[in-house]
Amino acid sequence: MNHVVELMLKPNFVAEISNGYPLILKEAAESIDETLEEGTILKIVRPNRKYIATGYYGKQNKGIGWVLTNNPLEEIDEVFFEVKFKHSISKRDKFYKKDDTTAFRVFNGEGDGIGGLTIDYFDGFYLVSFYSRGIYSFRDAIFNALKKTVNIRGIYEKKRFDTNGQYVDQDDYVEGEVGQFPLIIKENGMNFAVNLNDGAMTGIFLDQRNVRLALREHYSKGKTVLNTFSYTGAFSVAAALGGAYETTSVDLAKRSLPMTIEQFSVNGIDYEQQQIKVMNVFDYFSYAARHQLKYDVVVLDPPSFARTKKMTFSTAKDYPKLIAQAIEITAPDGLIIASTNNASFNMKKFKTFIDKAFKEKSKRYKIVEQYQLPDDFATLEEYPEFNYLKVCMIQLLK
Ligand code: SAH
Repeated sequence: MNHVVELMLKPNFVAEISNGYPLILKEAAESIDETLEEGTILKIVRPNRKYIATGYYGKQNKGIGWVLTNNPLEEIDEVFFEVKFKHSISKRDKFYKKDDTTAFRVFNGEGDGIGGLTIDYFDGFYLVSFYSRGIYSFRDAIFNALKKTVNIRGIYEKKRFDTNGQYVDQDDYVEGEVGQFPLIIKENGMNFAVNLNDGAMTGIFLDQRNVRLALREHYSKGKTVLNTFSYTGAFSVAAALGGAYETTSVDLAKRSLPMTIEQFSVNGIDYEQQQIKVMNVFDYFSYAARHQLKYDVVVLDPPSFARTKKMTFSTAKDYPKLIAQAIEITAPDGLIIASTNNASFNMKKFKTFIDKAFKEKSKRYKIVEQYQLPDDFATLEEYPEFNYLKVCMIQLLK
């Protein structure tokens, strides 16, 4: 078992942790030994040394570790992980039973009781992501517990704790069947090509499932759809399958071109009938404005933070400007689908960004629908700050 140390909380953090707040912030600790080994078990105590909870030490950008249990007798071992996995997997029963959706989240970090760990299911393969060296120190117990809980076709892992947010390319295969990639998964009947062994990302963001479905079912038929920050073009695929007149996908990354062609192709869509542009979205906005292009639907799904040679973009600061630019090229009664996964602000704040942009452009609007994380991305209801996804369907009004 990992080493155990006592972590004394500052008085004003006692109530929060006692009430179930899962994240251990650096400033919550009376003192912390920086040389502590990642994965050390933390006995979290009040200033009078009375027990509150057990957690682990694992540094992420958010904090220095996570609370795991408030039962002083519970050991953090294989059985602990097994109990957690059994529970989370039984909660996903309806997903396992679906034939038209074969990829979903099985374990969502703190929402399922273990911060810093996520597990996704891709047609029998399990992708386990570790967000700190601390949680990675439990790797063997985690894989054993998983294998005791479900039949696995194969396991892949992502070690998402390398320095500077860079993902160091490595072989992510762990055990079981060696995947033949691209693996084709299904989502509400749509096909998506994924690769579990090609860097940090797989080709699809599963948390946008309900948004893709809404786009396909309610907002695409006969429409022109501009998909910005399009990555592998998953929103474009949904729009095309929903009967869009034409989709335009814009992403800076060179790889987005072959990957978008692939996503169209595995759905039997002729990619030559669609537009795919490898370019900076902000340059595309200028180009479209210059040519007076207008789209019925504009999808905005930027990364929280992006840096190019020319500029930096941060959703917390620049989202109003992004929406303002999108308004310029949206048809008078068109729709903007604005999305962000930045956890540093909430839905209320996000709506103030939207409002600011429309005020600046002197345009009226109505938010016709909004989305946050889907069911399989379990969150703690009392702590909405962990429900990072915010999506608004904004109807322009004349
Ligand atoms: N909307 C996508 C996910 C977007 S991920 C989906 O649903 O699958 C963010 C993408 O933004 C990345 O592919 C990255 O290459 C792209 N990106 C970042 N900055 C950009 C910029 N200035 N212009 C165009 N693309 C950008």
